[in-house]
Amino acid sequence: MNVASVIVDVAVMQTDRPFDYEIPERWQEVIQPGMRVIVPFGPRQVQGFVLEIKVDTEIRKLKPIVEPMDIIPVLSEELMKLAHWLTIESLCFKISALHVMLPAAMKVKYSKLIRLTGEKSLPPELASLFKGQTEIPWEEASDAGALADIRKEVKNGTIEVIYSVKSKGRKKTVRMVRCLLSEETLAETVGTMAKNAVKQKEALLAFSGRRGNWLTLKETGMSSATAKSLLGKGWIEEKQEEMYRDPHSGRHFEPDKPLKLTESQQEAIEPILATINDGTTETFLLHGVTGSGKTEIYLQSISQVIEKGQEAIVLVPEISLTPQMTERFKRRFGNDVAVLHSGLSIGEKYDEWRKISRKEVKVVVGARSAVFAPFENIGLIIIDEEHETSYKQEENPRYHARDVAIWRAAYYDCPVILGSATPSLESFARAKKGVYTLLTLDNRVNDRPLPSVDIIDMREELREGNRSMFSRTLFDKIKDRLEKEEQTVLFLNKRGYSSFIMCRDCGYVAGCPHCDVSMTYHRHRHQLKCHYCGYEEPAPNICPECGSEHIRHFGTGTQKVEEELLKLLPEVRIIRMDVDTTGTKGSHERLLRQFANKEADILLGTQMIAKGLDFPDITLVGVLSADTMLHLPDFRSSEKTFQLLTQVSGRAGRHHLPGEVVVQTYTPEHYSIQLAAEQNYESFYQQEMTMRKMGGYPPFYYLALINVSHKEAIEASSAANKIVTKIKPSLSPAAVILGPVASPIARINDRYRWQCLIKYKREPKLTAVLKEVLEHYAKQGKSNELLVSVDIHPYML
Ligand code: ADP
Ligand code: ZN
Ligand code: ZN
Repeated sequence: MNVASVIVDVAVMQTDRPFDYEIPERWQEVIQPGMRVIVPFGPRQVQGFVLEIKVDTEIRKLKPIVEPMDIIPVLSEELMKLAHWLTIESLCFKISALHVMLPAAMKVKYSKLIRLTGEKSLPPELASLFKGQTEIPWEEASDAGALADIRKEVKNGTIEVIYSVKSKGRKKTVRMVRCLLSEETLAETVGTMAKNAVKQKEALLAFSGRRGNWLTLKETGMSSATAKSLLGKGWIEEKQEEMYRDPHSGRHFEPDKPLKLTESQQEAIEPILATINDGTTETFLLHGVTGSGKTEIYLQSISQVIEKGQEAIVLVPEISLTPQMTERFKRRFGNDVAVLHSGLSIGEKYDEWRKISRKEVKVVVGARSAVFAPFENIGLIIIDEEHETSYKQEENPRYHARDVAIWRAAYYDCPVILGSATPSLESFARAKKGVYTLLTLDNRVNDRPLPSVDIIDMREELREGNRSMFSRTLFDKIKDRLEKEEQTVLFLNKRGYSSFIMCRDCGYVAGCPHCDVSMTYHRHRHQLKCHYCGYEEPAPNICPECGSEHIRHFGTGTQKVEEELLKLLPEVRIIRMDVDTTGTKGSHERLLRQFANKEADILLGTQMIAKGLDFPDITLVGVLSADTMLHLPDFRSSEKTFQLLTQVSGRAGRHHLPGEVVVQTYTPEHYSIQLAAEQNYESFYQQEMTMRKMGGYPPFYYLALINVSHKEAIEASSAANKIVTKIKPSLSPAAVILGPVASPIARINDRYRWQCLIKYKREPKLTAVLKEVLEHYAKQGKSNELLVSVDIHPYML
C-alpha cells in the first residue's frame, strides 16, 4: 500500500509529527511530495502538505486522503528541505514554514480551475470533459477521476491548474489569432479577394510581415465577425491567452543599457562575476555609500546570471520598493521581471508568483518573502539595504531573509550580494572575520560630493530663546530653497513618541542604571521602567543633572510640524507622508510622483521617506529631531540612528546640485550623530562594537527571546517563571538570563505579556529545550489560553 506522510494544518494541535494516510488507488499516480492534500482529521477535513511517499508493508488501518489540492507539487524538493531547515533554525512548526512559501491566494481552499492553454490539443477522453469550454472547475475533473490524465497534460503544457482569486483586477483571457497562410499565399489571397471584403483584406494585411506571431484581435484591427469568417476559411487559427493582472499595466518602461562601470565598480563586480561563472557560493558584503553605484552592480551581475540561463532574486525593503526602484529593473530587464510586495492585491501577487513558478521571468524584485520565490535554477540572490530590520519576520516563522538567502545560495552554488551604505554590525563583523567577502565603494559615482552636514544643538536654540521645532539654520535654509525653487525633505521619526524623558536644557535622558538603554515612560503612573531588566523608578519632575524644570516626555508628530511650518511660511507647498496619508493603495507612489513633478516644495515624512528617493532637485534634508530614535529602549538604537541619518542624508544632492543636511539634536555629542554626519562608518562600527561587547549584545552574543501571554496577568508571569525554571538546567553558566519581566508593551489585545531574554554564545542544548517548551504549551492548546513563542535572534525586544 502506498502511504503519504502528511503535515496537517491544525492550529490547536501544533506538532511537527507527520500523520500517515492511505493514498487511494485513483490518486496513486497523482500524489507526490510537495503537494497539498485534503485529509480527514478527527471529525474535520483539513489541509496538509505531503512530505514523502512510502511503500507500507505493515497491515494497518489508515484513513485515506480525501483528495489532492494540487496536480503538480507547489513546493520543490529544495523548498521542502528549506522548510525543514527553517523549522529547526527558527523553532517554528513545520506547517508555518511550508505556508510562508506560498502566496496568500493559494491558502484559500478550493477555488481551482482547470484551463486549456490553447497551444496543443487535448486527448479525446479529456476533451469531452471540457465540452468546448476553456475552463472547468477542478471538482468536475476530480469527480470524473481524471486527475492522473490531467497531470500528464499539465506536464505536456496542454492544460494548467489555476487558482481563481476574487480580487480587484480579476484575471482575464484574451483572444489571440495567428495567420496560417505563408507570406506569398497571403499576398495572393488578398489579391484574389472580392472587392467588398474590405475588412477581411485589412485584417489579413495586418499579418503581413508577422504572420508567425500571435496577435490580439485589437492589434489586427479585426472584429469578431471578421475573425469568424477568416477562421471558417482556415486562414487563421485562434487561442485564448491568459492576461496576467499586471500591477504595472499601462506603464511604459523605456529600455536602458548597462552603464560603463567606473574603476571602483569594476573592481567590485569582478569577484562577483567570477563566482557567478564558476557556480560557487559566496556571500559578498557590498559596502558603498549612497549613490556609489551599487544598484548598477546588481543590474550588471544579474545580466550575467541571465546570460548563463539562470535566475536572480533581488530583495529590497518594503518601504523602498518605490516605483523608482522597480523601474530600474523593469527598464533593464523588461518583461523578465516579476515584482512582489505588499502593495499588490492578492490576485496580482498570485499572478506574479505564477510567472516565477512557470519560469516566465528571470528576475524577481520583492520584499522579504520574495526570498522564497519558486525559481529552481538560482544564479544570484541580492539583498539591498541588508541592514533593514524588516528582513526579519516578526511572526512565525521568525526567519531572517538573509539567512534564507544564504541557505538557498549554498543549495544552488551561487553568490549572495548583501548591499548597504551602513551594513548591520552582524554582517560587517562577519566580513571582517572573512566569513563574507567585503567589497567597498568609497565614493559616489563621478565623485559627486556627499552632502555637507550641519549638526544643530537644539539646547543652544532654546537658550537663545527659540522655542520652535525649527532651528534658525534649518529655517533659513528652507526659505533659501523656496527662493531657488529647489526641494527640501524634512524627516521626523515618529516612533518613540512620548516614550522617553528628556531635559530640554541639558539633553539628559533617563536611562537604566543597570543597562545601556533609556527607560520607557509610563504616563499613568508617572514611572520610568527598563524593559531589559525590569528596573523601575518614579519619573523625575526636575532634571537630575541640571535641575531644570524643562524635563518632559518627548515627541512631535508630523502633523504638528506641518502646522507650525504653515504658520511660519503660509505659501509653502507641503506633501506629508506618514501612516495617515499613505493608508490607501497607491497613495505612497502618488505622493512621490507629485513631489517628483515638483508639485510641492517640501516632502515631510517619517522613516518611509528615508530611502530610495532619487530626485534631482532635493538639495536640502532636515532631520527635525535625531534623538527620537536614539533613546528607544533597544540595544540597536544607536545603530538605527546612524543608519537612518546616513540614509536620509543620502537623499540630498544626488545629481548636479550639491546637497546640504541639517540635523537637529539635543545630544550633538553622541557618536552615532557625529559619525553619521561625517559618514564615517568604520569609526562608528568600532565604537558601537565596543558598546555591544560591554553590554553583552550581538554580534558578541546571540539572543533568544521567550514571549508568554495570557488573559490573566498572573498566569502569564507564573508560566514565564516556570519556563525559565525548566530551561535553566540545560544552560551553561556562561548564558545570561534576563527576566522574566513584563514585555515593553505589557498588554496587547487584552493579553498580558511577559518575556525573558537569553544571551548566549554556545548553548548546544538550548534549541532542543525551547522546542520542548513550545510543544508542551502548544499541545495544551486552547484549553489553557496560554501562548508561548520563541524568537531566535530577535529584532523587536
Ligand atoms: P546606489 O545604489 O549605491 O545608491 P546607484 O546605482 O543608484 O547607487 O547610482 C547612483 C547614480 O549614479 C544613479 O543615478 C546611477 O544611474 C548613476 N550611475 C551608477 N553607475 C554609473 C556609471 N558607471 N556611470 C555613470 N553613472 C552611473
Ligand atoms: Zn538638564
Ligand atoms: Zn535595565
